Amino acid sequence: MDTASLTGKELAAAVNADTTARAKALTEQAGRAPRLALVVANDDPASAWYVNSLKKSAANRGIDCETVDLGADATADALRTELSVRSADPGTDAIMLQTPLPAGISLDEVSPAIAATKDVDGVSPLSLGLLTAGSAGFAPATAEAVVELLKHHGIALAGRHVAVVGRSNVVGKPLAQLLLAENATVTICHSRTTDLPAVTSAADIVVAAAGRIGLVTGANLRPGAVVVDVGTNEAADGSIVGDVDPASVQGRAAALSPVPGGVGPVTTALLMRHVVIAAEQARRNGGVA
Ligand code: NAP
Repeated sequence: MDTASLTGKELAAAVNADTTARAKALTEQAGRAPRLALVVANDDPASAWYVNSLKKSAANRGIDCETVDLGADATADALRTELSVRSADPGTDAIMLQTPLPAGISLDEVSPAIAATKDVDGVSPLSLGLLTAGSAGFAPATAEAVVELLKHHGIALAGRHVAVVGRSNVVGKPLAQLLLAENATVTICHSRTTDLPAVTSAADIVVAAAGRIGLVTGANLRPGAVVVDVGTNEAADGSIVGDVDPASVQGRAAALSPVPGGVGPVTTALLMRHVVIAAEQARRNGGVA
């Protein structure tokens, strides 16, 4: 069996073209571009790289992206105050809080200060609650990217058994909710799952989102399974690799998403689409400066 590659580049390009057109229309109507505030409180090099790539991506779409750097020693109060001010500011359409946060501060402590209408990466407990209840809100872009990537490649979800490996609030849990909304049957696995290979071998679709190199191998899959690799891990040689061992999966899985080039580009594209949606909604509700 040939293993198809679930690449994300074509889907990302299509989403980006639509976002660019919508950002242009918003700019012409309102006299200013959609605006994203990127709140940073660390001096982590990987985070700085990601912030730069988001800024480039925003610029390419015609979105204003302002970095608000509070420094690696920012307090939880300072973060909450900044997020509250931006949430109330009609000149800010969308907010992203970059991780890692300063030592000792958890995302849950500060993210509730982000208004749900501007929480474009769906990080606050309110956004996760809205998603769980099936109400309007922003899903975390990575979780949404997995579902969009599968749909783009014509993989049916209704009635299929999906094993999600990972239960974080930003990937595993929201992804499980999105898959349920597509009528999939979902099993969520984590580090305390007793027999992970037994669960993954029983699934039609396996999504690996654990951040562990080589966690999912071909031997732990049903022949013909579809595999989405969300993991982005730094290998010993400095390259970026996923959670799936691609060589062992070849010929056994029906399809596998590559790392890089699979979920990643779709995630960034969806984030920018969320910014434009937030701006469109703000204009409809009259809260724009
Ligand atoms: P995280 O917060 O560290 O969560 C990892 C999850 O995996 C946890 O639920 C953990 O279980 C589970 N896990 C760890 N080891 C396991 C094992 N041996 N067996 C089964 N489950 C295990 O990570 P995250 O933020 O969700 O990110 C997951 C991965 O996705 C990372 O590699 C990250 O870099 C990547 N990522 C990629 C994108 C993208 O755009 N491509 C975006 C975001 C994240 P416990 O809950 O029991 O600890």
